[in-house]
Amino acid sequence: MIVAVDGPTASGKGTIARALSAHFGLPHLDTGLLYRAVGYQCFLDGGNPDDSAAALAACSFPDALLGDPELRSEATGGLASRVSIHPAVRQALFERQRSFATQPGGAVLDGRDIGTVIAPEAPAKLFVIASVEARAQRRFLEMQGQGRKVALADIAADLAARDERDRNRKDAPLVAADDAVMLDTSDLGRDEAIARAIAIVESARAAARD
Ligand code: C5P
Repeated sequence: MIVAVDGPTASGKGTIARALSAHFGLPHLDTGLLYRAVGYQCFLDGGNPDDSAAALAACSFPDALLGDPELRSEATGGLASRVSIHPAVRQALFERQRSFATQPGGAVLDGRDIGTVIAPEAPAKLFVIASVEARAQRRFLEMQGQGRKVALADIAADLAARDERDRNRKDAPLVAADDAVMLDTSDLGRDEAIARAIAIVESARAAARD
């Protein structure tokens, strides 16, 4: 079974995807990490992330880069959002995501366009959302916990800018698939959000069997 988990930054989709992967015993791919690696490689190369050719060249990043903690930073998230606009970059990362999705037994993938572009045939699709305030607050606490000095207002502004870019790009914009189930985590604790996600996937699996 392919499980597609899409949604904006800090909506809780990564936590939910990891929990679904553990619960259903399916391998998990965080596709945002691929775009982050391209953005960071482009920066390391001294390239301009807004330039399609420079961003495409960065798609041949070494696999070892995927383990670099710098990929998790807000700065790299911003770079990822810029390189992900280019159709050539999305195309270059397509096959890797597609073959992960279609491996025997299935998989859980989280990202922005899993249910619409990478695996539109997925029987279970979740679109995870949360208010900008809730998402900024979560990110703030997470970064404070890592000992980083950050301002809540800066995080909220950055999230809003990334949402805007992700929603308005021409190629594979952030949009829920028609058959995705919306899960708003604004007022949900971690365990409750996970329990609801599991219930959604269980019922999609049952429906696919009928
Ligand atoms: O999910 P994460 O915050 O790690 O993603 C970083 C950026 O990568 C997003 O803001 C988005 O622009 C891009 N992305 C994408 N398509 C995906 C996953 C991530 O365009 N499937």
